[in-house]
Amino acid sequence: MTTIRTRLDPTDERLRTVCKDISLRELRLKKNQQVIDALLEFVYARNNKGEKHNRKKPTIIGLSANQVGVMERICIVDLAVRRNNYSDVHVLINPHILWKSKTTNLRKEGCVNLPNVWGYVARSQKIDVSYVDRWGNAYTVRAVGWAATLIQHEVDHLNGYLFIDRLSDPKKALLVRDEDLVAYKKDPKNWNTFTDVSRLCRSL
Ligand SMILES: [Zn+2]
Repeated sequence: MTTIRTRLDPTDERLRTVCKDISLRELRLKKNQQVIDALLEFVYARNNKGEKHNRKKPTIIGLSANQVGVMERICIVDLAVRRNNYSDVHVLINPHILWKSKTTNLRKEGCVNLPNVWGYVARSQKIDVSYVDRWGNAYTVRAVGWAATLIQHEVDHLNGYLFIDRLSDPKKALLVRDEDLVAYKKDPKNWNTFTDVSRLCRSL
C-alpha cells in the first residue's frame, strides 16, 4: 500500500509546479487509485489519533496532491467546513475553475505546508468548477461561499500558488504558535503577533 507521511517544506519547488491533468485511462490504474486512498488516509489521520481518533472526521479541510509531493492534479476537500461533528469529503480530479465572480469574500486561511501561519485572503464568492471524480464521472458545479474559497485555495496549489501569494501584506501574516492557540481563540480580531512570509511568496 502507498503511504504518505510528510508534507513538503514551503520552499519546495514542487509546490510551485503546475500539476497536469490525469487521463481517464491512467486514473483507472490501480496505482493511481492507491494514491487517492493514500491522500485520503493522510487527510483523515493527521492530528486525529489516539482516543480522540474519529475516522469519520478529517482534521484537514483540504489537501492537494503536490502538497505531499504527488505530482498529479488531484485535491481533496471537506465541504463540511466548520461543522465540527460532520464531514463531507470529495475527491476532485483534474479540477479547473471555469468562471469566478467579481464579488469577493475575505476569509482567514491557513495551509498544511505553512504551519502556524494564517492570513486573510480575498477570493471570489462564487465559482464554476469542472472536475471528474475518482471513477471518471464528469461534473461542472457552482460553488458558493466557503466551498468556493476552499476549492480556489486547492486549485491554486495545483497551479503552483500558495495562499500567502495573495496576502495584501505578506510582511504581516498572522503567527499563531501551537502554545498560543487558546489565547488566540479568545480574541482573534486583536491578535498582534505577525511573521514576514514575503521571502516565501511568488508574484501572481
Ligand atoms: Zn494549502
